[in-house]
Parts: sequence; structure tokens; C-alpha cells
Amino acid sequence: MTIKLFNTMSRKLEEFKPLNPGRVGFYSCGPTVYHYAHIGNLRTMIHNDILKRMFLENGYDVHHVMNITDVGHLTNDEDDSGEDKMEKGAARDNKSVWDIAKFYKDEFLRDYDDLNIMRPTDMPHATDYIAEQIELVQKLEKLGYTYEIPGDGIYYDTSKFAAYGALTGGALSGNRAGARVEFNSAKRNPTDFALWKFSPVGVRRQMEWDSPWGVGFPGWHAECSAMGMKLLGNHFDIHTGGEDLSRVHHANEIAQSEPITGAPWVSYWVHFSFLVDKSGEKMSKSSGEFLGLDALRRRGYDPMVYRYLILLGHYQTQLAFSWDAMDAAAAGYKNITRRVADLLMDNAPGDVDATAVGAWHDKMLGVISDNLKTAETLVLVQEILRDGTMNAATKINLFEFIDRLLGLQFLDRARRIVERESADAPAEITELAQRRAAAKVARDWATADDLRAQIDAMGWSVVDTRDGFKIVKKDE
Ligand code: AMP
Ligand code: ZN
Repeated sequence: MTIKLFNTMSRKLEEFKPLNPGRVGFYSCGPTVYHYAHIGNLRTMIHNDILKRMFLENGYDVHHVMNITDVGHLTNDEDDSGEDKMEKGAARDNKSVWDIAKFYKDEFLRDYDDLNIMRPTDMPHATDYIAEQIELVQKLEKLGYTYEIPGDGIYYDTSKFAAYGALTGGALSGNRAGARVEFNSAKRNPTDFALWKFSPVGVRRQMEWDSPWGVGFPGWHAECSAMGMKLLGNHFDIHTGGEDLSRVHHANEIAQSEPITGAPWVSYWVHFSFLVDKSGEKMSKSSGEFLGLDALRRRGYDPMVYRYLILLGHYQTQLAFSWDAMDAAAAGYKNITRRVADLLMDNAPGDVDATAVGAWHDKMLGVISDNLKTAETLVLVQEILRDGTMNAATKINLFEFIDRLLGLQFLDRARRIVERESADAPAEITELAQRRAAAKVARDWATADDLRAQIDAMGWSVVDTRDGFKIVKKDE
């Protein structure tokens, strides 16, 4: 199947050609574990997962690396200034940096699992690759790309790398002037960035290491170059991240890596657009109400509804989050699982029609392989449900594929509905329901309503059907 992805580097939709037949290596910039992930971060992780599932369904062997940033990410990314996010988070939580790294990583992985995102093949921590990061800086130093700002750190001289900023359309030096607060005036060029930061004099940081240049810690960008090269090699297929990363973080990763690899480091750069709020503001850890997956769980949403909402959009388009959008997604998701439950309860499912399964499989895989058109695959899901020519067994078989491809757990949720509905109601509930039916026949609506309320309060609901009623256990 032809696979097409939008490559930020060429600004074109390109046909994917693997470096090694049948294999794909991809690196995703992962979370900085100083706080809970917000649902914007999680949007990016869901798109990573779709990318991976698309390759798996196309028969590829996928090597996915996602780093855990537990050091070196400063509050001002563009100027390597401000506080270390990790140290700041530790002070806020009154814990050690190591403790918060573990805590927020575990919380992140809980969200990851609840959203049914497949775990990466490797999940390296920046702090486990300090030696590799020092080695990277040493290599760049030898090649003449670095300079020292006394009392501050070792910096990368971006003027030495002719292709600097190619990812976002070329030289950036003018680009950033005036964009932000004043730049570190000791830097040779505004776009230069720290490779190694010295620990401030007289301050003992919780995370610091010896290096040939003095005690300190790596600049944030160094980890992705060092770990990417170590785990995926000097040239790998795909590098992903949120749209904010292309201009600085990924520009810097390329500048650090390519003088060493001597050739393009990554074949395809894929960036996912932001989740924004109603006013178009980027969802961030500091903006307004903190929206983590937990805020959604607390309001009673199944995490799958959030995943469904994300897949209704395209990765190259910003998505505005609102509770109305969540409600609409919840209704859409429920509608599908209800219909899948009906398929599971079909008394005459028939035999699987392998030809029909093959045709729909190819159609859906074709759509998702064409630049990850998730919304269009969901339209096909509706078509499958509506199709009058396929029996229940065939449709259920297709849903096994749909769940593998989109990870939306339709069958699992449908099975829960079936379980709930087939749970035998206790005798007292059945009796109340019978009395309600009698009250209805007697047109005693008040009694009928009262009995319904009693049944409801006991965790069941009574549903009127063509030939009587059915008692169903309510959602937990
Ligand atoms: P961080 O934890 O801030 O290092 O970010 C982890 C990932 O989430 C990165 O790939 C970011 O680009 C991405 N990200 C940050 N904010 C958003 C957002 N509002 N929408 C989508 N992705 C985001
Ligand atoms: Zn990165």
C-alpha cells in the first residue's frame, strides 16, 4: 500500500520510502515530566499512535523511540534561560526532582494506557544518557561548532551550520529578533543555543554532572540528538513532535546531529498541530483551567471519547477543545458502540464474508495510509455499520481490524454493553417492573413514574420494547 506523509522539511506530501525494506524507525519527542500531561500533549501522543498503527497494519516492523525529558528543559526554550522546569516542579510539589520525575512519568503512562496508546519500543530518560550527550558536545567541539560563554555554558554557533532553520524555511537569525524578551547578549547569534549549562556558582542543583567543561547539565535539545542516534542510528525514517517543536527544538536537533552524521539525519519530519481553546490559544500547562485527562474522567467521560474526538480531526489542523465538542464526540462514540453491541447480540450472525472483509480492509487502510486521514476512516466505519449487504459476523470481524487500526476499543465497550444488558435482574427489580407495566395498562402514570424512579435508584433502568419491557443495568 502506498503511504503518504506530509514532510515539514520539504513542505510537501511525500510518498514514504523506508530506509530498510519492511522496517520503520521513528522518534517522538516525549513529555517533560515536571507536571501532569495536558490533553494537548496527549493529542500529539494519539497522533503518534495512529502513525505507528498505520505502519503496523501495513506490515512494517516498527521501532518507536520516545524520550522522557527529566532534565535540562528551561522555562524559556528559545534563549536557554529561566528556570529548569524540573527543579521548579520539585519546589512546587515539595519533593525531590527524582521523585517528581517518577511520579509524573507514571501518571503520564496511566493516561497513555487509558487512551490505548501503544507503548514505545524504547522510552529512554535523558538522565540515563548523560555520557552520550557529553560525547555529542565533544564531537561538535572538535568539529568547531561550539564556544563557551563563561559562567553560563557551552553554546552551539548556528552561523557555522549553513542549513540552520531549513525545517521552517531557512535562516532564522533575523527571524527571531524582537520576537521575545532580549536575548542573551553574550551569544554570537540570536539562534545559538546551549549544549551544556554550568551549574550556577554557589548553587547545588539536584541534578548535575561532571563534564570536561565543568559541573552542569545538558541543554534540552542534546538529549534527542544523542538518544535518537544511539537507539535509531545516524539516519532514521521519521521524527515527530508537536508543531511548536519545528522552529527551535528540531532545528537545533538537526544542527547538532548533521555535522556528526554528515548526511540528513531524518528522512521525514512530521508535526502535529495544536489542541487549542475556544479563543485559539494553545493548550498549555500554565493556561487557564488545567485540563489533564483526569479532568475529563472526573466529568464522567470515557478516555476513548477523547481519542475519538481527536480522530475526528486531522493532524495538520488545529483542533479547538470545548465541552460541547466532547459531548458531541461522546454521543457519536456511544452511537457506534451501541450498534456494535447489537451486532454482538444478533442471534443469526452468519458466516464471515472474507471477500467483503478484504475489500473494506483495503479501503480503510488506503485512506489512513494517505496522510493519516482519520476522520475519513470514521466515515467508513459508519458506512460499514449502515451497509445492508454484510451480516453481523462479517461486521464484527471488520471491527477487530478497526480496533487495531484506530485503537478505539469499540468491541470492548460494546461487550460491556452486552454484559450489562444481559445481567439477570434481581427478582425484586423484575417485580417492580411488572408492577409498573400493570400501572401503565391501568393508565396510572403517577405510579408508573414512581416505580420507574425506584428501579432507577437501585441501579437499573427499564426500557419499553415492542413486546413488553427489558431491564438493563445502568452505566457505572
Ligand atoms: P512537553 O511535555 O511540553 O515537552 O510536550 C510534549 C509534546 O506535546 C511535544 O511534542 C509538544 O510539541 C506537544 N504539545 C505541547 N502542547 C501541545 C498542544 N497544545 N497541542 C498538541 N501538542 C502539544
Ligand atoms: Zn526532542
